[in-house]
Amino acid sequence: MVKEIVLDSLNEYKGESHVATTNACKLCTPLGATIAFKGVEGAIPFLHGSQGCATYMRRYIISHFREPMDIASSALGEKNAIYGGGPNLKKGLLNAMQKYGAKVVGVATTCLTETIGDDVARILTEFREEFGDLPLADVVHVSTPSYSGTHMDGFHGAVKALADQLCPGGMQDKVAPTGRVNLMPGMVSPADIRHLREICLGFGIAPTILPDYSETLDGPALLEYENIPSGGTPVAEIRAMSGASASIELGRAITAQETAGTSLESRFGVPLFRLGLPMGIRETDSLFEALKQISGNPVPRELSLERGRYIDALVDGHKYVSGMRAVVYGEEDLIIGLTTFLAEIGVKPVMVATGAKKRGVAEHIRSACGDLLREMPIVREGVDFFDIVDEAAALSPDILVGHSKGQKAARDWNIPLLRCGFPIHDRFGGQRMLHLGYRGAQSLFDRLVNIVLEKKQSDSDIGYGYL
Ligand code: SF4
Repeated sequence: MVKEIVLDSLNEYKGESHVATTNACKLCTPLGATIAFKGVEGAIPFLHGSQGCATYMRRYIISHFREPMDIASSALGEKNAIYGGGPNLKKGLLNAMQKYGAKVVGVATTCLTETIGDDVARILTEFREEFGDLPLADVVHVSTPSYSGTHMDGFHGAVKALADQLCPGGMQDKVAPTGRVNLMPGMVSPADIRHLREICLGFGIAPTILPDYSETLDGPALLEYENIPSGGTPVAEIRAMSGASASIELGRAITAQETAGTSLESRFGVPLFRLGLPMGIRETDSLFEALKQISGNPVPRELSLERGRYIDALVDGHKYVSGMRAVVYGEEDLIIGLTTFLAEIGVKPVMVATGAKKRGVAEHIRSACGDLLREMPIVREGVDFFDIVDEAAALSPDILVGHSKGQKAARDWNIPLLRCGFPIHDRFGGQRMLHLGYRGAQSLFDRLVNIVLEKKQSDSDIGYGYL
């Protein structure tokens, strides 16, 4: 919420003047960075701050991915808050390298170290000078003050830091053409990353996916515990991103930001394709057009068949969902993609909300949906669940679409919640939910139709054998 409450003294309510957030519709900034760092081969995420931050993020991430999530920490205490956290950071980095065998350490700052003003770049330079005689791992750092951003800022910031710091320099440092394509998918599920790889390979494209946590955050059962799970983008591939024939960056709302893609384009001249998350037919068609252009190859038959099957499913199933009123919430890129998907299947998005601020969500929805929307939904940025519930209640929604945090509102209003995105804490398999491509749209559509039918069946006095 952003309702203002004014306290005359500590306990006395007076009017409106103090801004509070009630159940935020965004997550902590370095949390996004730790997920991005987890998608690099041999890397360990490292939080420069207090231990509590790492514990909170580990718990949050594990409960969605159901995988071990080690996050190292400089474990600062009160003394460090006054004298600085440099010594702890250096000691922690050595531990991560020597005890864990990390090949890359991804350092993200926290509210505490941003507030006290620790100069991480300088501390890392000192670290390399002091321990230069040891075999040191690469250290990539990103500034992630949580009081001025969201987990998506942390995620994109970490991806840019990886590209900038592991593939530094300009045209004079550009490597020979690799024939690969850089793909920055944004914060999507491990299942989405696997599907994107499959799509690229179908077009004959070898992708460097950054980050790639499809294995590190959704891996097989092992007989022996790995300190750092296998998988992730190989560092050698990141170092060679300057030699790629093109970059593709997914997510319409990042267009206002400097990103890994814009950085590789301006420093090395790697052509950048910035596209929306490929959710639904239109946005997936745009991705496929780009892949056709880059590869010179046609759409693989198997993927064309998936498109055709999805359209067939829409013919069969649109009657169950057409005209329903949806409230969509979550990350800025995801809600734009979801709104496009819903508009295509005849569902009416009545409200679209995110905790992120100034992302131009309304403009992106207008451009992604075009003539699909007869009426624009109410679009709210910088809101929390207090605001969303407060405003959405009057809109009489039939369905909520977003992550697990909408569960309470869905229960209060007795309407279904189509779970997607991150975090999924109250259902199993969040990491395997597919959202992207025609196959992802098919999966979302099947799930949506089924939760609508399930509600109809359970609300009915007689029940139905056929629906
Ligand atoms: S103190 Fe800041 S960085 Fe740490 S968990 Fe809280 S919001 Fe995140």
